[in-house]
Amino acid sequence: SRLRKIVTIGEILVEIMATRRGQSFLEAGDYRGPFPSGAPAIFVNQAALLGQPAAIVSAVGEDAFGAVNLNRLRASGVDVSAVAVRQGPATGSAFVTYAADGSRDFLFNIAHSACGTIPFDASARAAVAGADHLHVMGSALAAPGLAPTVLQALDAVKGQGGTVSFDPNLRKEMARAPGLRPALERVLEACDLFLPSGEELFSFCEATTEDAAAAELLARGIEAVVVKKGAAGAVWYDGAGRYEAAPLAVEEVDPTGAGDSFGAAAVSFWLRGLAAPQALARANAAGAAAVTALGPMEGALDSAALDAMLRASD
Ligand code: ATP
Ligand code: MG
Repeated sequence: SRLRKIVTIGEILVEIMATRRGQSFLEAGDYRGPFPSGAPAIFVNQAALLGQPAAIVSAVGEDAFGAVNLNRLRASGVDVSAVAVRQGPATGSAFVTYAADGSRDFLFNIAHSACGTIPFDASARAAVAGADHLHVMGSALAAPGLAPTVLQALDAVKGQGGTVSFDPNLRKEMARAPGLRPALERVLEACDLFLPSGEELFSFCEATTEDAAAAELLARGIEAVVVKKGAAGAVWYDGAGRYEAAPLAVEEVDPTGAGDSFGAAAVSFWLRGLAAPQALARANAAGAAAVTALGPMEGALDSAALDAMLRASD
């Protein structure tokens, strides 16, 4: 049968990373990049590499950083027909630095970049109309010029009988965006697959333990709650039970993008009807592969590489 098509909406950025742990944005230092990035872009790139039909609604500037992204997304097979190339604003960017304890600081240029405003225009409507599934990134909901389009797409996809996945993916730099909370709640209410990482699970329920929080969310009608735990692996909860994936043993070079890559595999294989443990194993492998390379999309796997990684881990 036909593979179901995914659409996502949100920021496309280049990412430029400090090379030294503990490097401060306040002083000159060495940086690596530009790498193609943006949570929805990382997600859609990984989904397409796995063979899932996938589109992104976004915008880049008419500049080299836009080309870095469009070249990569096209090469991976992503449908970029709804990525506007704007004259005027530059392609979005993010600078990242890692603290000694592994935590990250981001300096985002999204709001005033090409993807700071993404209207629900004809090409966006067409991409959404052609999709069976919408993946929502909380980072897109945190952008005032993007959130209304994400919510319109949500209504459209639900209206045409499609399914929805949701990764809150909230950076501390975004948490105070106006109107964010109600938008997050609306998407949570509508989603079939919920993909929080770590503490994000608890910001959407009363419960204070992981099992109780997952149960509370499943009781609201969410089909599966999949908790990402970084180097500790992941857990998948659904009506039938609880499944754990032990982390694969990899060398962590750069954690950014792991959650998005994990989500892409989880959603793609869930859409293909794989049983929870099998979909989880693939997502866990995609997340582990992502951290092995510097740059958020550089560790993305195609189907053959994913199969090889799963075989090697058995
Ligand atoms: P980001 O938003 O930065 O992309 P995240 O916080 O959403 O990341 P993580 O929990 O860091 O997501 O990673 C997603 C998944 O990738 C984990 O649940 C795990 O399956 C896998 N993973 C991440 N880091 C490692 C690691 N060091 N070793 C093995 N697997 C990992
Ligand atoms: Mg994340």
